[in-house]
Amino acid sequence: MSLFPMFVKLEGRPVLLVGAGPVAESKVGGLIAAGAAVTVVAPAATPAIVRLADEGTLLWHRREFQPSDLNGMTLVVAAVPRDVACAIYEEASIRGVLCNSVDDIENCDFYYPAVVHRGDLQIAISTAGHSPALAQRLRIQLEQQFGPEYAEWIQQLGAARRALFATEMDPDERKQRLHELAHEQPGPEGPGLRTTGHVYLVGAGPGDPELLTLKALRILGQADVVLHDDLLTPDILELIPSAARIECVGKRHGERQMTQHEINRRLCEYGGAGQRVVRLKGGDGAIFGRASEEMDALRAARIPFSIVPGVTAASGAAAAAAVSLTDRRLGSALVFLTAQRCKGNPPPNWKAVAELGGTAAIYMPGGHEGELARHLMEAGLPGDTVCVVVANASRPEEQVVETTLAGIPGLTRLPAPALLLIGVMPAKPAPAEASVPSAGKVSSDH
Ligand code: SAH
Repeated sequence: MSLFPMFVKLEGRPVLLVGAGPVAESKVGGLIAAGAAVTVVAPAATPAIVRLADEGTLLWHRREFQPSDLNGMTLVVAAVPRDVACAIYEEASIRGVLCNSVDDIENCDFYYPAVVHRGDLQIAISTAGHSPALAQRLRIQLEQQFGPEYAEWIQQLGAARRALFATEMDPDERKQRLHELAHEQPGPEGPGLRTTGHVYLVGAGPGDPELLTLKALRILGQADVVLHDDLLTPDILELIPSAARIECVGKRHGERQMTQHEINRRLCEYGGAGQRVVRLKGGDGAIFGRASEEMDALRAARIPFSIVPGVTAASGAAAAAAVSLTDRRLGSALVFLTAQRCKGNPPPNWKAVAELGGTAAIYMPGGHEGELARHLMEAGLPGDTVCVVVANASRPEEQVVETTLAGIPGLTRLPAPALLLIGVMPAKPAPAEASVPSAGKVSSDH
């Protein structure tokens, strides 16, 4: 028989909780939050329940359960061993009181669902006891989809609904308006009032969709428009809702190159048209991602924006190679640099890098790895400095090559995107392996 789902007003109604251990304690908060008049029966109680009794938030009878405790109760929750719960369930059935025995589906009239709490918006999930683990998984997924902002949003939708009912209008038109408002995404302006858009500069990480932050995933799910660069993997692009407009604005995309100026213009245009715009970038948008130029353009156009950081490629590469980006045995610095230069900018200060004492993560080596290595050796960095080249970090086609600075010029070029880590501790072989990994060893699956 299927279960009947309902949300019950418990305010002021008498509810019995039998047991006052940690399990009972985990159940009491929800009952109190719903305003139930809770009576607890148990010979001993946890400090938290004692405190609630002392404050007068609930009534505690310090003794064993007796059937007459059930008289006049709306519900009973039995957080006690199975044999006691069985007796409570039977006595409750005789009196027509609905009973929940915690973790004991046989002796239950009702179950506690897994719940997504967003203020007055509550989403309850039941598997009728078949798989609480699935209920929990669904809860977590729904929590990602419906973030904390829905608590405020549901209040605002309620107010907008009441206002529409207070206005004389055609009922069909009102109904349509209510549906339109419910289709909007939560935003600071309130439903129906969105005039300016918002641009989110979101870092998508090095490629593995699981390395997106929860925030990035949530914002992506609410996007009207997504402008992404070339580094984005198909797996991540699949997470964009089908209703959103997706534009690849990668510099290498298609026949023509899209200029930064054109990207800025589109961000401002969509944002200015009231759209929720996501500018999705590989790694962390604030590292070699021209984020400052986009922020300048948005500031100039007075379009509000937020930044969502991401896992940068150097972190992804270090994880792929199973090395640490910093190691106190080697030094205390970590520098991110790029081999690509803006016209007119001076070349990197190789001497400073060589004297750094730590790790250098070189982005966009662009086939100039040999040249870079030579510059660093000329600047005084020893040829036996450990280097790791990582291509496609965190993606299925990931490749890791461990070598030395002197070994880099002789390496076969790895596919893009690739990153160089210079000056890390070599990855140690597993204890069972006797040999030290040789320079230039390639491994493709981590
Ligand atoms: N904002 C990005 C970097 C953009 S520059 C970030 O924080 O990661 C682009 C360079 O990043 C590439 O040329 C390459 O050097 C590096 N990169 C990006 N994704 C990578 C990946 N999955 N594996 C290795 N290197 C990567």
